[in-house]
Amino acid sequence: MTKPCVWEELVGQRQVADHLAAAVRRGAVSHAYLFVGPAGAGKKSTARALACAILCDDDACGECSACRRVKRGAHPDVRVIAPEGAATYMVEQVREIIRDVHLSPVETNRKIFIVEAADSFNDGSANAFLKTLEEPPDDVIMILLATSYDGVLPTIASRCQVVRFRRMAPQESIRLLIERTGAGEDEALAALAATGGVLARAVEFLDSPVRRAARGRMLTTLKDLTVSDEHDVLRAAKTLLAAVKAPLDDLKAVHADEARERADFLGSKGVKALEDRQKRQLTAREREGVAEVLNIAESWLRDCLVMSQGVGDLVANRDEVDAMEEVAAVITPAAAARALAAVKEARRRISYNVSPQLAIEAMLFDIREVLRCPR
Ligand SMILES: [Zn+2]
Repeated sequence: MTKPCVWEELVGQRQVADHLAAAVRRGAVSHAYLFVGPAGAGKKSTARALACAILCDDDACGECSACRRVKRGAHPDVRVIAPEGAATYMVEQVREIIRDVHLSPVETNRKIFIVEAADSFNDGSANAFLKTLEEPPDDVIMILLATSYDGVLPTIASRCQVVRFRRMAPQESIRLLIERTGAGEDEALAALAATGGVLARAVEFLDSPVRRAARGRMLTTLKDLTVSDEHDVLRAAKTLLAAVKAPLDDLKAVHADEARERADFLGSKGVKALEDRQKRQLTAREREGVAEVLNIAESWLRDCLVMSQGVGDLVANRDEVDAMEEVAAVITPAAAARALAAVKEARRRISYNVSPQLAIEAMLFDIREVLRCPR
């Protein structure tokens, strides 16, 4: 028997894919899964594949309308949920999820919830969530994602079937990325650096001229920093943010289509719910974009550091070697550490809901100080 397409795409996690595909075919899908594994291991892609397999009428074909909408995050019966609070799920958000869980599916006879960062419940929100996990409606399937089993509250973990994902070796990610996109090795390395090693995002990144343009903008900003005055830095942060938001236009177009298609059978309450969900999706996508330019800044600075230490073969941004060489010639490990700390601080601020623009401005000023006095 030939394997269905959505499973075929999960080349990095063969065992997990085979196990889940078999469960779907036997009609033995669990009500709650906990996918555990490091970032970049393919948990979310696998969760989407499982959703396709459950909702598809054609054995997880990957091509039908249901499969395609699951994959681009536009299927009304598949919800992808990420914490909206400062790095944790808030009780209010969980209450909203629970209300949603008890609504009937829109198009099919199943509803699937992909819950990211399941290690981010606090005691309050975990308690609210537990009741649903204990007695889910028959048509609901929960797929929780977490980077470590120990980070998930035991009361939650014990109610799920645990599926473990192994860490993909960097060499394996590079090979798969090249195989899947036809990119060169240099491009593949840069894409993985930009996306924190997450293969599925790296594939999208290489396919997105606007996201690659945002990378170029971040790199130019870094290279210009030593000669930038205050005004230039502020303007650079603004331009960078605009570049980060540019890819959202595609998603807005998808949203507009979705709203048009479904306007007829959604009541006014349904339209409101749809708009709320789309707004959340946009916010999440913008955060991903910001995270991406921060990854790029971090990898560029780390590259300067490894070059200064004479281990240039570990460089991730090979197209930047010339510019980095100048910095590498003068920067000390202590100075590089200060610059890297500035990126980390920006990430922390954003996770605490500081505006990305302000966080990036502060980061650029800090990195500028380091690059001007790299000792
Ligand atoms: Zn299908």
